[in-house]
Amino acid sequence: MLTSSQHQLLRVISQSGPSSRTVLAASMGLSKAAMSGIARDLISLGVLRETETIYGQGRPSILLDLHPEGAFFAGISLLEDPAPLVLSDLNGNIVARQTMPLSRDPDAIAEMIAHTLPKLLAARKGASQKLSGLGIALSGFVDEKQASCVKSTLLGWQDVPLAGIVRQKTGMTTFIENDAKAVAVSEKLFGDARDIQNFSVVSFDDGIGCAHFIGGKLYRGNHGGAGEIAHCTIEPNGSPCRCGKRGCLDTVASLKAIKEAAKAEGLTCQSLDELETEASLGNASAIRILHRAGSALGLAIAHLIQFNDPGMILITHVEGRFDGLFGTVMRQAVEANVLPRYAGQTPIRTQRVDGDVWARGAASIAAHNFLIGPNPY
Ligand SMILES: [Zn+2]
Repeated sequence: MLTSSQHQLLRVISQSGPSSRTVLAASMGLSKAAMSGIARDLISLGVLRETETIYGQGRPSILLDLHPEGAFFAGISLLEDPAPLVLSDLNGNIVARQTMPLSRDPDAIAEMIAHTLPKLLAARKGASQKLSGLGIALSGFVDEKQASCVKSTLLGWQDVPLAGIVRQKTGMTTFIENDAKAVAVSEKLFGDARDIQNFSVVSFDDGIGCAHFIGGKLYRGNHGGAGEIAHCTIEPNGSPCRCGKRGCLDTVASLKAIKEAAKAEGLTCQSLDELETEASLGNASAIRILHRAGSALGLAIAHLIQFNDPGMILITHVEGRFDGLFGTVMRQAVEANVLPRYAGQTPIRTQRVDGDVWARGAASIAAHNFLIGPNPY
């Protein structure tokens, strides 16, 4: 366990990148001697290291940065079968991978993790001594302690204390998190959102996930389900949704909904790319489906911008492109449905991600707790 001042120093470096002792002391409000003492302890723990020397006016200064191999984290995604496990370093790089069969039984999941973890750790020398936490990403609501799954439709769970069950079997500090929130934390810690205090992540996959950082902190609301745009009603009295309501965004604009609509129209497209190609060739059904989905997603994002005024929206997608009809209609719907003063003010970035995105996000939850401390938000 690190002390709170050690966490504070790691937090500053993880937010601002490699920095000199003088800069770090100033941003922490400490004397340089006090800061150097904390840094010395972290260097001897192998978590910090001295990197390049900057020659400017006065004495040259040496920059301090996180040591990538100072700690390792395991991340597991319960979103697919087989479930991927990754090992990440302190910079968020994936250094090893494994998979395990997915189960809905929490004890069986813990059992499989305990069984697979040694194989994952064997891939990287020294990783097992420095394994500093385990993160699990799942579809559903998670409590603010990142310990218990409040509700997951996909897994059929209600109030499942998964982190404790896994900790008991593996002996590892374990945190669980909602899939989109895990990706948002990963982006804040290691990705494009590092310097942004207010942003939202929209994950576009078979379902649509959403998570928000507000004032530099992950915002989860009272029950862990803040800002879940997937179940906003977008078409009143529309198609039934798996959540029990009708006309949710998920029933119109998720990858699954788009593919189902294509199938219902007799199209043979297997992917969003193929549907885009059909639309570009003038297929009226393909155009209609992509138009409807893009409009719905754009409308939901416009509401999101209107509510939160984020500095960036990051759309992560495992399939498809956002430069075809779907993405174009989506962007037009955003602009058409926000107040004129917001129009064009919110950068919407899209990022194609690989299948490791959820497991990497899960590992970043453990990394965030290690770097920034418990109850980080
Ligand atoms: Zn729904």
